[in-house]
Amino acid sequence: MAIQLKKSYKFALRSSFFIALALTALLTGILFFLKKFDLGIVLLFFPLSFLGSFLIVQARIERFIYRRVKKIYDDVSLLESSSFSNRPITTDMKTLTEEIEKFAQDKKVEIDTLKIREEYRRDFLGNVSHELKTPLFTVQGYILTLLDGAINDKKVREKYLERANKGVERLIYIVKDLDFITKLEVGDFNLKKEVFDIVELIENVFDLLEMRAAKKNISMGFDTTYDTPIYVLGDREKIQQVVTNLLVNSIKYGYQDGTTEVSVENLIKNKVIVRVTDNGEGISKEHIPRLFERFYRVDQSGSRKEGGSGLGLAIVKHIMEAHGEKIYVESEEGVGSEFSFTLEKAENKEA
Ligand code: ADP
Repeated sequence: MAIQLKKSYKFALRSSFFIALALTALLTGILFFLKKFDLGIVLLFFPLSFLGSFLIVQARIERFIYRRVKKIYDDVSLLESSSFSNRPITTDMKTLTEEIEKFAQDKKVEIDTLKIREEYRRDFLGNVSHELKTPLFTVQGYILTLLDGAINDKKVREKYLERANKGVERLIYIVKDLDFITKLEVGDFNLKKEVFDIVELIENVFDLLEMRAAKKNISMGFDTTYDTPIYVLGDREKIQQVVTNLLVNSIKYGYQDGTTEVSVENLIKNKVIVRVTDNGEGISKEHIPRLFERFYRVDQSGSRKEGGSGLGLAIVKHIMEAHGEKIYVESEEGVGSEFSFTLEKAENKEA
């Protein structure tokens, strides 16, 4: 691509002025010395020498710029062709310096971002392999014991196969969550916003989790009866995921015979707030700020009875942020927790 040259005459004009001034002074001196001083000659010499010097200086600058500076532009534009290729080259040194400085600054920002991303990637991979290792070794342990002879004992065989299967199930939901969060983090999903009834959605999730809650005899329900639908605008499937993750947690970290209550309230004119409250084990203060981080768990030990992929709340946060909505948590150890999130209200089904 032909590169344009944006000319600047300032430097040549100034230099030529000083050269012409010096030459005229020299000529005046010589004329005085030879006792042939003539003002007419001096006055004619000045503009002529000015013009001559200007043409020479400008020609030299342009040659220099074309050879050297163009090479710099070419080298730089090799790296950043998109930002440089369409701009005219300048022969003005100040602009050139500014452009190179800006280029260097941009590169620094880019390198810093890449470094952060690299760190994040390393962390992520470390966490993933750590998360997968435990269930994998469990499954392997049972299979090896079976191969070692336990397979012949009918009672033990079934028990071990069931436990191995539990391990595989755990592996599956870790991988599913990982897949989901990866998609969320690379921004590889578009929200399919629609108007839906949040009360109905929550009821569906209650139904889906009924068995799970029953195992711990946890009663799950609304704080009051919602006779009329409450329409909101959002990605129905993703909001269902949010409600599910919060309710699953309230069961997982809830006490036997506990209660989980959901409420939907008007917050401000165009917002509703959905609260999921439990009277479970709660979370102590120091853990709250990190709760929504990927793989963060309050009980870091491997001896947890409960626990999923450690991605549940990170997924919740991603989904709510993608909606431009807020998620809050309030909790007290031994008393219970309340997770709440906002949603945009829709006037009616057709809105
Ligand atoms: P996990 O898969 O471990 O449940 P989450 O991201 O869903 O991962 O939750 C992170 C941590 O937050 C959990 O390990 C748990 O300690 C804590 N937590 C989440 N919800 C609750 C709750 N309702 N009550 C008590 N602790 C909770």
